[in-house]
Amino acid sequence: MNGVITAWGRILLGYRPNLSIEITRECPLRCPGCYAYGDDHLGGEITLRQLADLKGQALIDGILDAVRRYRPLHLSLVGGEPLVRFRELDVLLPQLAAMGIHTQAVTSAVRPIPTAWASIPRLQICVSIDGLPAEHDVRRAPATYKRILQHIKGHQITVHSTVTRQIAEREGYLEEFFDFWQNNPDTRLIWVSLYTPQVGEESAEKLTPETRAAVIAELRRLAPRYSKVQLPDGLLNVYARPPRNPDECVFARTTLCLSADLQTAISPCQFGGRPDCENCGCMASGALDAVARHRLPGGLKVGTIFETSLRIGKTVAAVTRRDTAPPARRDALPADS
Ligand code: SF4
Ligand code: SF4
Repeated sequence: MNGVITAWGRILLGYRPNLSIEITRECPLRCPGCYAYGDDHLGGEITLRQLADLKGQALIDGILDAVRRYRPLHLSLVGGEPLVRFRELDVLLPQLAAMGIHTQAVTSAVRPIPTAWASIPRLQICVSIDGLPAEHDVRRAPATYKRILQHIKGHQITVHSTVTRQIAEREGYLEEFFDFWQNNPDTRLIWVSLYTPQVGEESAEKLTPETRAAVIAELRRLAPRYSKVQLPDGLLNVYARPPRNPDECVFARTTLCLSADLQTAISPCQFGGRPDCENCGCMASGALDAVARHRLPGGLKVGTIFETSLRIGKTVAAVTRRDTAPPARRDALPADS
């Protein structure tokens, strides 16, 4: 509850409570359907692989500067592969914790996760695991199950799985997956997103309306049976009826996403490009929208309070002339930037 009130306070002051940073342009994986390396991810003029990224002390200082400027409560470090910069993270993560920031590092666990990270407060290590070994190891080599199981030892990770059509169409798959990770001692939580396509995308990953409905029904049936699976009904309701566009998406409106040069904003959300909101299956977005759709005693929707707070925040930031606005998307920057 304290977290909600603090986040609300930040919104009233014109800040976004969530910051997501693509910490590096590098990744040893080549996952099919990876949005970060899509041609339009950063607006079309430049791709993540072409962007100048930072290393060493410049990266540490750059991230600390961004945190001081945008004052998030929650920071997601995504990639590329964040473990490519594990030396910088060794320095950065304890400092972020000392600043009171809740940090989430999203990784493929392609290399060992440093043991010292297990005792850093307010740090969540989220490992992307897309299905059981037969499918995951093909999609996400060299971050295979064999490596992941070695590299997470001694940690309490959050398993984050994205359900693609290949997974969705195999009967009993999710139950087998939950059985496996529920029984793994290094797992604390299990999260499930649904694959989010770009507008007009036709791919082997994209769920059909029928498979999507079947997956949601299966998740509703299975979730209560596994203590580590976090899929409340409110979230599944959003998966069944996602926001229609970024303006309806609480996550997009409360999260600033920066790419690897720490200057280029990714919009409208972490997917970049033109994400197909009506087929969104992003767990972070779903969880926040579930809160916004919740009705308080008396019938008022939390989302109504949120809209008013956003308007107040914009006014407060304008009146106090504070620069809380995100940088422009790269295609809107002047040529010398
Ligand atoms: S690990 Fe992540 S960033 Fe790297 S290719 Fe796979 S989805 Fe993309
Ligand atoms: S998180 Fe999902 S709903 Fe929100 S803007 Fe992105 S694609 Fe759309």
